[in-house]
Amino acid sequence: MQVIVKDEMLVKGVVFYLESDLPSEAKFLLEDFRLAVNNAIRAGLLARVTSRNALNRLAYKDFREQHPRMYAKHLVSAFEVAGSILKNHRRRIRKGVTCRIPYVKRLLMKAENQAYKLDRKSGVIDLPIRAGCHVELRPIVSQYHQKYLDDMSLSLGSLTLLPDRVIVTFRKDAPKPYPPDSIISLDTNERSLDGVFVEGDVAKAIKADFSDIAIIQQRHHHRRNRLQKKKAHDRRTSRNLCRREGAREHHRIDHRLHQVADSVLKFAEERRSTIILEDLKGFKSKRSKELNRRLSMWPRRKLHQIIEYKAQWKGIPVIKVDPRNSSRTCPICGRIQDSRMGAEFKCECGWHMDRHINASINLLQTAISRGMAGGLRFNPGAFQHDVMMILYEPAMAARSEPNGTSGIVGVT
Ligand SMILES: [Zn+2]
Repeated sequence: MQVIVKDEMLVKGVVFYLESDLPSEAKFLLEDFRLAVNNAIRAGLLARVTSRNALNRLAYKDFREQHPRMYAKHLVSAFEVAGSILKNHRRRIRKGVTCRIPYVKRLLMKAENQAYKLDRKSGVIDLPIRAGCHVELRPIVSQYHQKYLDDMSLSLGSLTLLPDRVIVTFRKDAPKPYPPDSIISLDTNERSLDGVFVEGDVAKAIKADFSDIAIIQQRHHHRRNRLQKKKAHDRRTSRNLCRREGAREHHRIDHRLHQVADSVLKFAEERRSTIILEDLKGFKSKRSKELNRRLSMWPRRKLHQIIEYKAQWKGIPVIKVDPRNSSRTCPICGRIQDSRMGAEFKCECGWHMDRHINASINLLQTAISRGMAGGLRFNPGAFQHDVMMILYEPAMAARSEPNGTSGIVGVT
């Protein structure tokens, strides 16, 4: 699932698995499409062009002769796919990255929204193959899918066909974020989001604990090392096994991050909160820094990305704040401590607070002082030290682990 911003138009890809194997016509179409993409790539490389239209002019006629009956819109879409591959290739060359001549191995085809039909009641997809030949694809429709099919404010975008699934994109205009009634300010740490929830005169600590992600990463890291040692004599097998390990790890972490983001957004939506996050852009990993740092940074960036695009889709306001000195500043007297401290931030003025929550209070005050918090205010004296609201904890993931969908509770 992904949302991309295009002129205030939001796009979300929804994956549908199919009830049965692809009909053989559709399999042939996938192969023809791949052939068309690869031919267009070659033609584009030779002629040094990357735009869809230029590729169309170059390769359309030749390919039409080889495949006289293929649906014309699919061919045009093959040129578009080839064009974007060529653009990426050119970008990589410009960056000085050594790379092979691009060649698509994967079976995949893309159809623009005029080139297929989807019945929004049943989810059945009608895909033209060539003149006089259509295939019907029957996706498995869960409540999650039905929600997208039923929502008529969403229009259909392109369709991507793979051997075992289709990805349908849904589009809508970005909703205007609501004016907030409360604030959630979150400091992003390696193992948790920590912060404050402010509503009226009351401020409470909140936490979303994802410490299990670091554990997953570590476990996979060990396993990868072991694989590399065991298969040291066979580099190809070792590389393939590691890649598979990596994909599995990635998938599991991604799944957790989505759950963490969902719990934060649910909390925010119910209380009509605006969400304040630190801007992680400043944390550019330097080359000299060790790999471990970079590994521990990406789940946090990814989490922000997920929170931001899901919030945008739902119209929940998100504010990004420069985190400079947020962990060293006293929100009461403004003193900046020079050294890093322990788990608790202590100031000479008498203020003391959990280090992470203190940082989130500083993010909040930065947002308020810049007039970004929709006129809402915060008084550190109103902080209730004895209350902690848990938005997420690893036990929540364990419950929904088996298939990843049991966490979705349908309300009809
Ligand atoms: Zn102070």
